[in-house]
Amino acid sequence: MSRFLLITLLNSCLLISSITGLSANETIIHAGHMLDVNTKKMLTEVSVIIEKNKIIKVEQGYSSAGQNDVIIDLKDHTLMPGLMDMHVHLSTVLSPTFFMEKFVMDSADYAFRSTKYAKDTLMAGFTTVRELGDQDNNVTIALRDAIKTGYVIGPRIYTAGKGLATLGGLADPSNGLRLEFMGEPDFVEGVINGPIEARRAVRQRFKEGADVIKLNVTGGSINQGRGGFGSQWMQDELDAVVETAKEYGMSVAAHAHTPVGIARSAKAGVDSIEHGTYMDDDALKAMKKYNTAYVPTMSAMKWITEKAKEKGDLPAEVRAKSENMGSQIDITVNKAYKKGLRIVFGTDAGVYPHGINAREFEYMVNAGIPPMTALLSATIETAKLLRIEDQLGSIEPGKLADLVAVKGDPLQNIVLMQDVKFVMKDGVVYKQE
Ligand SMILES: [Zn+2]
Repeated sequence: MSRFLLITLLNSCLLISSITGLSANETIIHAGHMLDVNTKKMLTEVSVIIEKNKIIKVEQGYSSAGQNDVIIDLKDHTLMPGLMDMHVHLSTVLSPTFFMEKFVMDSADYAFRSTKYAKDTLMAGFTTVRELGDQDNNVTIALRDAIKTGYVIGPRIYTAGKGLATLGGLADPSNGLRLEFMGEPDFVEGVINGPIEARRAVRQRFKEGADVIKLNVTGGSINQGRGGFGSQWMQDELDAVVETAKEYGMSVAAHAHTPVGIARSAKAGVDSIEHGTYMDDDALKAMKKYNTAYVPTMSAMKWITEKAKEKGDLPAEVRAKSENMGSQIDITVNKAYKKGLRIVFGTDAGVYPHGINAREFEYMVNAGIPPMTALLSATIETAKLLRIEDQLGSIEPGKLADLVAVKGDPLQNIVLMQDVKFVMKDGVVYKQE
């Protein structure tokens, strides 16, 4: 088509719409209850009016529709902002074959499989996730872009790409291999020694397209490296990462189970501590002092402890480390809440099967967190951690139309969060039961 013809057609379309007075269609959601994150209350009988991908109005009562508008009836439901999980791994899932996969799966295998996990996550009501560690070749950076373009169905992704480690530490991909396969992994693979290499690793991730930096500051439960849960990063290395990440506008998430690693990371100025399982009073104080967010990932702890009971599913070393995590995390989360830490929702999906992320709400409430606080932790608190609270995290005019609903009142029964009936992302309905 010639450019002239195209412009003529466009002009005539504009002309027709101005003559007939047709306006863009609106979607009107009638919600029986709606979570208002500003007043921390449930509003009743509300209409949320959406044009294209944005919320344009929130009105009391059930608004009537114009001729071209679409009404979505959620009068028996509770409408909430799209849920957000700050700790997922969309390129993997723990299974008896997990430790073998990197030898037999190609990048394309990881990539295709991750599309299934992404879809499961969205259908569970999670419209935004933070991906904290790719298993293979930046699969989730490509996945993020494919979802953004519309090739693949899934949540909005903020990804770290491959996580960073020190030599021999958690997320050094050569751990446990035969000597000749160990090689000398460097900053490209995310393995650093000293502040200069820490800087190079951050810049490498920036170049590759990561949004956030993931640090593995202490040992972990499902890795087979040496040293248990001990600290693996020096203060100057952590400082170098945070300083460099800030330079590029990237945030930093630090995996840390034990006190020294937690306190050092908080001091360096990381945005969040992941897991924090064995934090003591000093570590807690450091997080409070530096206003570090706490992402407990209770779902992963519960899952691993459960799996550790089954012989054969996990290596003996992993099972030994994981026995007590499920009960310890309850104690830690309860204490962190009582001491006023900023608790932000994250589950470590991929350690357990993708799509059951919302179990975390139940675990949080069982550990003593009020249901309203748990809901806020997965909406406005997550948006703040991602620094996107101007676009997402609440149901307000001007924000993106990411909305989910459950039938009934989750404040009365938090288990309802595990049965999301309605999912809208960016103004598009993906699920409506
Ligand atoms: Zn993780």
